[in-house]
Amino acid sequence: ELPEEDAAAVLDRRNRSYAPLQGHYYAAPPRIERGWKEHLIDTQGRHYLDMVNNVTVLGHGHPAIAAAAERQWRMLNTNSRFHYGAVAELSERLLRTVPDSFDTVLLVNSGTEAVDLALRLAKAFTGREDVLCVQESYHGWSLAADAVSTSTSDNPRAEETRPAWVHVLDAPNSYRGTHRGAGAGEAYARDARAMLQSLADAGTPVGTYIAEPRNGNAGGIGLPPGYLPAVYDAVRRQGGVCISDEVQVGYGRQGFYFWGYQEHGVVPDIITVAKAMGNGHPLGAVITRRQIADALASQGSFFSSSGGSTLSSRIGAAVLEVLEAEGLQENAREVGSYLRAELEALADRQPLIGAVHGLGLYLGIEFVRDRSSLEAADTETAAICNRLRELGVIVQPTGDRQNVLKVKPPLCFTRDSARFFVDTLEEVLSNGW
Ligand code: PMP
Repeated sequence: ELPEEDAAAVLDRRNRSYAPLQGHYYAAPPRIERGWKEHLIDTQGRHYLDMVNNVTVLGHGHPAIAAAAERQWRMLNTNSRFHYGAVAELSERLLRTVPDSFDTVLLVNSGTEAVDLALRLAKAFTGREDVLCVQESYHGWSLAADAVSTSTSDNPRAEETRPAWVHVLDAPNSYRGTHRGAGAGEAYARDARAMLQSLADAGTPVGTYIAEPRNGNAGGIGLPPGYLPAVYDAVRRQGGVCISDEVQVGYGRQGFYFWGYQEHGVVPDIITVAKAMGNGHPLGAVITRRQIADALASQGSFFSSSGGSTLSSRIGAAVLEVLEAEGLQENAREVGSYLRAELEALADRQPLIGAVHGLGLYLGIEFVRDRSSLEAADTETAAICNRLRELGVIVQPTGDRQNVLKVKPPLCFTRDSARFFVDTLEEVLSNGW
């Protein structure tokens, strides 16, 4: 049954009743009220390929999650001060995915909350205020998470509003950053060591380093080899701890790895995860060591009314179960590698594609006007997105220059869908937008 109001009328109601602070995709967006696997369907019955939903990791409308949620709602949903099995089940399942050095989980409702709590834990454990983060990243909207978010596309005033306890390193981007090509990892690590030293000399030694294991916000850009181990080592030598923010790339999306930090052969002190955890149900977690959690416990308390609720925990456990049962990490590796290879072949034919970034089903297609100057093709990227939507593909630009298409579909993504995406992109690039 089709709803009576059309998309424009409902958009008008949204614009009048809902805060304009949070934008929406497209100037005249289709009204999407239904989803299935990697497909979205608007109220006119039009299908779109969903290339942006990294939250809906299992795909839209997954029946196992709907069944788990319905059953739990009918039985019980209450806060984690009560004793029920689901918290233990989800926490144990999460701990089975990480090395033995991790033994403690804290459950919250979003990535922002996970990051905020991780920063508080690190601060309590180290007794230090100062935090080191990297340029062009996003970690959330709370006061602390926003303070370490440096992305100018999310917050144009990020630099001028930054508190004194936040210190920012260059984005370790070996494609267009300060240091490029082979040796970039060591060069960026050298810069990090220099900053750590100067902060220690100034009497404000860094307590926390927070970064994504792949620069998600910038467009899935990989960290240059050797960078992360060197920075973790330098931070720890000075008594700091390292947070791996896996909210964006987390949970098998990279195909070759379940967690992003694994690519770099490091083990963080604290992991933050959310988005994929609940397949769209609000859920986040911090995974750490008991000693670090105890440091916060000795300074105050932590409680989240819905974090770790019966329902959230049950859904979180069901998502992990389905991810494994359906082999979705393997699918991300296989289909993601195929998609990446096809996009690289397309780049050989289309000079606007400067680079294909990413791994598995977390990819970034960077558009440049010139492959030497790397001038960002931002207006072209916006126009390409709009044209792709007309042709049935939902994808969005990202990064400080808004010239990277962020490709992060549900992990049930098929080769056929990959083919459709590449063919449609080729059509747009060849025939104009
Ligand atoms: N960290 C990273 C790396 C993110 O990408 C995001 C969200 N885009 C967050 C934290 C915040 O997560 P949430 O929107 O669930 O609060």
